Amino acid sequence: MRFEDLNVDPRCLRTLHKNNITEPTPVQEQAIPVVLSGGDLIATAQTGTGKTLAFTLPALMRLAELKPGPARMLVLTPTRELAQQVETVMAPIARALRLTSVVVYGGAGMQQQADRLRRGCDVVVATPGRLLDHMGRKAVRFDGLQILCFDEADRMLDMGFLPDIRRILAHLPKERQTLMFSATFAPELQRLVGEMMHDPARIGIEVSARPVDTVRQVVYPVRQEEKAGLLLSLLKEQEKEMESVLVFMRTKSRTDRVGRMLKAANIKAAVIHGDLAQGARQRALESFRSGKCPILVATDVAARGLDIDGISHVINYDIPQTADDYIHRIGRTARAQREGDAITFVCPSDISPLGTIEKTLGYNLPRIEREGAPVVLSTYRKTPAAGASRNRRPRSLLRRR
Ligand code: AMP
Repeated sequence: MRFEDLNVDPRCLRTLHKNNITEPTPVQEQAIPVVLSGGDLIATAQTGTGKTLAFTLPALMRLAELKPGPARMLVLTPTRELAQQVETVMAPIARALRLTSVVVYGGAGMQQQADRLRRGCDVVVATPGRLLDHMGRKAVRFDGLQILCFDEADRMLDMGFLPDIRRILAHLPKERQTLMFSATFAPELQRLVGEMMHDPARIGIEVSARPVDTVRQVVYPVRQEEKAGLLLSLLKEQEKEMESVLVFMRTKSRTDRVGRMLKAANIKAAVIHGDLAQGARQRALESFRSGKCPILVATDVAARGLDIDGISHVINYDIPQTADDYIHRIGRTARAQREGDAITFVCPSDISPLGTIEKTLGYNLPRIEREGAPVVLSTYRKTPAAGASRNRRPRSLLRRR
């Protein structure tokens, strides 16, 4: 199937082709007709599946057809980085259709955002807290809202945005199209859906999100105090393959500590977490994106939704506590049908989170044994199908064998 077969506006087609986007991904194939028909939609979509384009493309096409007016579409995202990414994906399509957008998020100056909102735009992309501030100061009203979209709705609820979302909803017209994208659908989210959506079409619903097949996943058993040494030796051993590495940490202070440790070892690394000012976060992201710093050390919240091309390796320096976080983290690599490696450090005390992740995946992750490494058990044990793990080994390890 091609975008042409989905009744995509020729002006958008030209823009997509210029960006080498010719065939819709499965979520796009399913979502585009529903959104174009004006119906409500709930989509379970993994990161890296093309979900952003799946809603922005048809929603903007609808806006171009509907009655003009200010703030006709609102996209809510959990983080400022995701808000910026939505805007980046949307901008060329919006330009092609002569629509305008404004992005607002916390941690950046209020005034400039307020001025832009007051000047008027077709689409507002926002994080909930900052949007409420602007609504409170009457910088924007949504009386003419036609399309509301939630991106990574599960993460918004995880981050405690439910009260803010309810407050925003109270100011929106009831008569509108509502779209929701989420990796998972916890009961709390289902309740929200019941309250604010009308007979939504559902696509891609799975019991649990699964990582894409092109991510090779491995586990390195290691003692807590040996993690820094293991990271340094992996970065040295696999320097050539590790072109662009995202290292995930459990806390902000651990993120800073590992960033300092890498710098002390003369390894160029950028650090990103929620306590940094917006400018510092943007600089870190930019130096990673441009390749100036091939390593980015990050917390989950800061890294969630980052769309950075060509991440070759995700390293879980600290194992994530939920299977959902694991899938999101490793979804940062192998995006858009590319290959990638996901390496997870596991300590003997990680028996339970490792078991939760493996149970959700439905298989045990292959262990990379090293001399002197501890034994790390898992609460989940499954005999893999013959050869099931062979192609999940990192490229470099495959080559050496
Ligand atoms: P997303 O899941 O929205 O974060 O998108 C992941 C990446 O896939 C982004 O870099 C998009 O530019 C890219 N992408 C989206 N749709 C397509 C497509 N149909 N063909 C190729 N790449 C795409």
